[in-house]
Amino acid sequence: MSVLQDADTAGYIGEPVSQLSHALQCAHFARKSGASDTLIIAALCHDIGHLVAGPDAPQMDGLGVVDHENLGAAFLRARGFSQPVCELVRGHVQGKRYLAFKSETYRAALSLASRGTLTFQGGPMSPQQAAMFEADPLFEEKVRLRRFDEAAKERDLVVAPLAAYTPILQRHLAEHAV
Ligand code: FE
Repeated sequence: MSVLQDADTAGYIGEPVSQLSHALQCAHFARKSGASDTLIIAALCHDIGHLVAGPDAPQMDGLGVVDHENLGAAFLRARGFSQPVCELVRGHVQGKRYLAFKSETYRAALSLASRGTLTFQGGPMSPQQAAMFEADPLFEEKVRLRRFDEAAKERDLVVAPLAAYTPILQRHLAEHAV
């Protein structure tokens, strides 16, 4: 998880928190809500695609890496994380597109940066896309992850450090070792 540790100085594009702080806050909200280890790990790692992309990766007009959800999922899969963790990571953009379709309040509350990236990500889902998404077995967890993601942008929130997640990360990787 050195990728996350090094992200203490990486700005979280257009938000008042570092990438590390955003990841830790997201995992904090997952933990606080009683989420499974799978969801907590996905929350911690959901934006890792922004950090592992190469310098030439296409950008969303200064708002991060295009397709970061798939990059992140592939990165984690290659390192032994379970399929559901990777699928949740991949799904956090779907969650946003779904909520943007479903809720006017959600759309209005999106941060400026998040609104900017939504356009790059295909905008709000269509009714058909939303119906398909609702049938996804991980639908509820993807939406929960998105809610944690949205909340995890507080300037001065004090949360547990990365080391607090070492035991669940180690357990997860040991359980899913091939
Ligand atoms: Fe995020």
